Amino acid sequence: MNTHPQTCVQRYLEIESLLHHFYTFFDYCAAVCIPGLLALSGGAPVAACCKNRYYRIYDLEHPSFDLLRKEREALYGRPEDQKESSLVSPCEYHGEKGCRLKSHKSPVCLSFMCRPAIENLREKHNIFTYDYLGFNYALEWILSGDMGEREWENFRESLLEMIRKVSGKQGKAQGSLPEK
Ligand code: SF4
Ligand code: SF4
Repeated sequence: MNTHPQTCVQRYLEIESLLHHFYTFFDYCAAVCIPGLLALSGGAPVAACCKNRYYRIYDLEHPSFDLLRKEREALYGRPEDQKESSLVSPCEYHGEKGCRLKSHKSPVCLSFMCRPAIENLREKHNIFTYDYLGFNYALEWILSGDMGEREWENFRESLLEMIRKVSGKQGKAQGSLPEK
């Protein structure tokens, strides 16, 4: 498959935006995990799961990854130019209030979900299909162009289904969810 990097990044960013939508409903990280950690640290910044420069470790050598990085750095600056550091994470993009990247995150950063978060997804929302490694590879394939058009549509639809479930809007018109 030879999808142009621009198209791959565009598709990837659309999935990223759907994932942000998903996390507005599934707020275990922001509503449970981080407040719990902040209570333990006495309000000092916490790293949660951002304990390494994961974007640097796991990103692939590929033109689409390069383009994503270029767009990220144009929006948020290069890692070495980040001024404020949280001092709790080696990741340069981790500020006092967490990750500074509001978009253009790496696949590993977008897909990671720890065990307690996955358990909450299962117990509270009845979603048993989230497998973070599988999700990570799917995001990598979208970015590298190795995921075909049809698979991409299926993946996007399964994400919309997860959003419907987690938002309690299952069965209602899809118009209330983000569209292409
Ligand atoms: S993925 Fe897990 S460790 Fe990371 S912020 Fe969410 S709940 Fe916390
Ligand atoms: S880029 Fe953001 S999400 Fe990824 S490790 Fe750094 S702070 Fe965490």
